[in-house]
Amino acid sequence: MWYKQLDKSWTIFLDRDGVINRRIFGGYVTKIEDFHFISGVLEGLPILAGKVGKIFIVTNQQGVAKNIMSLDDLHRVHQNMINEIIFSGGRIDYVFSAVNLKGEVNDQRKPNPFMAHKAKEMFASVEFDKSVMIGDTNSDIIFGNSLGMKTVLVKSEEIINETPDLLVDSLLDFVKKI
Ligand SMILES: [Mg+2]
Repeated sequence: MWYKQLDKSWTIFLDRDGVINRRIFGGYVTKIEDFHFISGVLEGLPILAGKVGKIFIVTNQQGVAKNIMSLDDLHRVHQNMINEIIFSGGRIDYVFSAVNLKGEVNDQRKPNPFMAHKAKEMFASVEFDKSVMIGDTNSDIIFGNSLGMKTVLVKSEEIINETPDLLVDSLLDFVKKI
């Protein structure tokens, strides 16, 4: 099983909403009080950090372009998230956020590969064929599959047409399998 071979040469790309924190359907996490870690995440991330190389979050946040939140609001939410993860013994090496509107010219949002290419530009160790994308929607799986990554789908209410390499109940479930 490929997921048993993960080591420090591998990179993990994590979706945020629905993987790290509880997703707000039809809305956005605009402030720290609305950000709730999914159970097991703070327990799983330190184990993951001990096994793999870089760990990134790649998140679509068009609430910024819609003026529902500011970039400062988003950064405040992410700083607080990272602080709690570090406090629990885990780490996130970088958070990539696509804040443009869906369908805009030069769309940075998943499933477009922009954030993955940005990660590879910034971190020399990133190899897409030694990367795993973990997400809960079609766009996450398309993003990972089209870049030649391994893909892991976290089960949700979402209807999924894409085929991931692995299906899990949660991030902690994935961590327990590797
Ligand atoms: Mg998601």
